[in-house]
Amino acid sequence: MRGIVIHAPKDLRVEEAPDQSLGPHDVRVRIEMGGICGSDLHYFNHGGSGFIRIREPMALGHEVAGTIAEVGDAVTCVAIGARVSVNPSRHCGHCRYCNEGLHNHCQDMRFIGSAMRFPHVQGGFRESLVVDESQAIAIANTLTMAEASMAEPLAVGLHAVHRAGSLVGKRVLVIGCGPIGSLVIMAARHAGAEEIIATDVQAFALDMARKCGADIAINVAEEPNGLADLVKRSGPLDVIFEASGNAAALRAALELLRSRGLALQLGLGGEMPLPTNILVTREIELRGTFRFTSEFALAVDLMNRGRIDVKPLMTATVPFTDARAGFELAGDRSRSTKVLLSFA
Ligand code: ZN
Repeated sequence: MRGIVIHAPKDLRVEEAPDQSLGPHDVRVRIEMGGICGSDLHYFNHGGSGFIRIREPMALGHEVAGTIAEVGDAVTCVAIGARVSVNPSRHCGHCRYCNEGLHNHCQDMRFIGSAMRFPHVQGGFRESLVVDESQAIAIANTLTMAEASMAEPLAVGLHAVHRAGSLVGKRVLVIGCGPIGSLVIMAARHAGAEEIIATDVQAFALDMARKCGADIAINVAEEPNGLADLVKRSGPLDVIFEASGNAAALRAALELLRSRGLALQLGLGGEMPLPTNILVTREIELRGTFRFTSEFALAVDLMNRGRIDVKPLMTATVPFTDARAGFELAGDRSRSTKVLLSFA
C-alpha cells in the first residue's frame, strides 16, 4: 500500500506506507479521491506553519473519500462496499469540550494528516486508511467521490457561517477566494445572505467567486479603492469573513464595517495588528472560526440532496503517483482552486 509522505519541506515522496491495524470499531477505507488543502501545501512548502512543524515523516491529506473494504467485529453503522466521505476529525468524546458539543476544541483531538501531536496522526493520502466507523459518512449514489472528498472544506465554510449567526438580509464581504473563501460564499448564499461581495488579488479566484454566487467581485490589486468606493455608494458591510490571513485586507475591511458589525477570522495569518479604536468605538465583534463540529454531516447531506454543488471548485484531478505535480499546481492560485488526487 502506497501513500504520499512528507519528509521535509519540498521532500514529498510516494512510497510504501505501513498497513494500519483494524480495531473492533474501525473500518478500512479504500481511498479513491483526496483534495489538497492549504495546510497540506504549508507542510509541503515549509514543513508546517506557525509552531506546528513535522518532526517525523507523515502521510499528508485530510480531505478524502472512498469505499469500505473491511470492517471490525463490532462495527454496526457501515458495511463493506459502502461509499463514504471520511471525517478527518476524531475527538475523544469525554473531555470538557466534547461534553459541550465543541468537538473542534477537543483536548485529545486526533485529526488525520496533522503534525499538532507527536507521534503525528498519519494522513489520508494513501491507498487505504483505517478510521473509526463514526468517521465514515455514507454518501448518496448520485454523489461522485470527488464531491465527497470536499465535505471537509465545505464543513469549514458552513461552520464559519454558523458562527456568524443569521445572515438573512445581510450584506456580506468575503476576503480571499481560494477553496475556503469560495465555499464560505456558497454557504452564505445558502444561509440567505442578501448580497455577497468578494475580494481577492487574482482574476482566476474572482471568477471562481462569481461562479460560487458572489454578486460583486473586486480585484483589490487592480482597484485598491474598489471596496471603499462601493461602500461609499451603497452603505457599510454587515458581516466580514476573512479567509486570506492578510493583515492589511482585514484592517481595510474593518474600516468599512457597520457599527455593531461582525468580523469572522478564518485565515491563519500569524500576527495581525488590529485597529483597536475602530473595534471599540463601533462596538465591532471579532470572532475566530476553526474547523467544524456537526457541520461535516451537514455538508454531506447538503451535497447528497443537491442543495450545494461544489463541482465548480474542482479545477484539476491528478493521479496520486504524480503528487508533486499536483502540489505544485495546487499552489498556483493563478490557475487552481481545488486540486484533487485520484487514487483509484
Ligand atoms: Zn474531547
